[in-house]
Amino acid sequence: MISQAMLGFGRSKSCIRELAAYGARRKAEIGADRVFDYSLGNPSVPAPDCVNEAIRELLSLDSCTLHGYTTAAGLPSLRRAIAEDMRKRYAAELDPDKMYIICGAAAGLAICLRALVQPGEEVIAFAPFFPEYRMFTEGVGGVLVTVPPLSDLQPDLDAFEKALTEKTQLVIVNTPNNPSGVVLSAQTLERLARILEAAQARYGHPIYLVSDEPYRELVYDGREVPCMLHFYDNTILDYSYSKSLSLPGERIGYLAVSPKMAEGDTVYAALTGAARACGYVNAPSLMQRVIEKCIGQTADVSIYRRNRDLLYNSLTEMGYDCVYPDGAFYLFVRTPEPDARAFSERAKKHELLLVPSDDFGLGGYVRLAYCVTEEMILRSLPAFKALAQEYGL
Ligand code: PLP
Repeated sequence: MISQAMLGFGRSKSCIRELAAYGARRKAEIGADRVFDYSLGNPSVPAPDCVNEAIRELLSLDSCTLHGYTTAAGLPSLRRAIAEDMRKRYAAELDPDKMYIICGAAAGLAICLRALVQPGEEVIAFAPFFPEYRMFTEGVGGVLVTVPPLSDLQPDLDAFEKALTEKTQLVIVNTPNNPSGVVLSAQTLERLARILEAAQARYGHPIYLVSDEPYRELVYDGREVPCMLHFYDNTILDYSYSKSLSLPGERIGYLAVSPKMAEGDTVYAALTGAARACGYVNAPSLMQRVIEKCIGQTADVSIYRRNRDLLYNSLTEMGYDCVYPDGAFYLFVRTPEPDARAFSERAKKHELLLVPSDDFGLGGYVRLAYCVTEEMILRSLPAFKALAQEYGL
């Protein structure tokens, strides 16, 4: 019998998907350069040279080795290299035997949810959040509990404390954040960890924290992204190279269970089982080897910073109320009317494709992915101005 839950996910309306489809149609009708498409978080900065150099070098390897299966958890040499890099950059200890190379951060989330959440158990996410959190949670029969943010879009930790119950099994933290660009400070993570520790003691069972961090290196003005492993022992890192190396189509990243987790062996075994059950064993072999050769490198994120400055400053000057993004490549703008979908529809009349925030678990904003060309931003400014004037900004 067809799964009604999966059918529901497949048929559910997603603002991002609908906008992308609309954008494709509109570009065919009037020309791609006349549509200002801010809908998708697809990196616009090329992968650094080391990626193609590594691929060229690797082609000299024996074909059956290069394209053969690796161990299910990924090449041990790659896991050791990542652990070494994390020690150097974050003074964070990772155990290569508790790491699992995955097909992108999305696969990592799916594995964590499958391994650690049973039907009826609760998962907490801080709004605004990556829409797939709901899919991954409800896909295993879990219940997604969302915590609305403070007015500056930082997490409301008092509300978080109240949202925790004996059914809470897992909490997802995403910093830098998609869709707001907000980065969480060490102080915030520290308080969050203490709240979680108190809840674990109160309910007598572990509460796992998944730190979903594909934008870890996309931060500006010297802003630091503190490593969650320093704050909370029951942490699992979910990382991908989709954004930092501009490789989203190659599907490569890793899960790492904190070496300080008391039941780390059991949790790691459950993650390995879930990866098998999801069919996510053996991330792409060529990419595993590429990553090993590119450890510590990132794409040129200064291009995103310039786009951020241009877009934030221009829109703020026009009267839009924008959340200042410290990281990622998204600008979150408060809509001048309460209905974000209605605002997004009106923006379409100016050929501006802006994602209404409802998909992210919060109303009243639109998300602009500024991983686009600077030239497109400049061309789009008169359209933003005309839209602002319609609202009397
Ligand atoms: N988590 C967040 C917050 C994201 O924004 C994304 C992708 O945009 C993912 C996870 C999934 O990343 P990946 O492409 O590595 O699967």
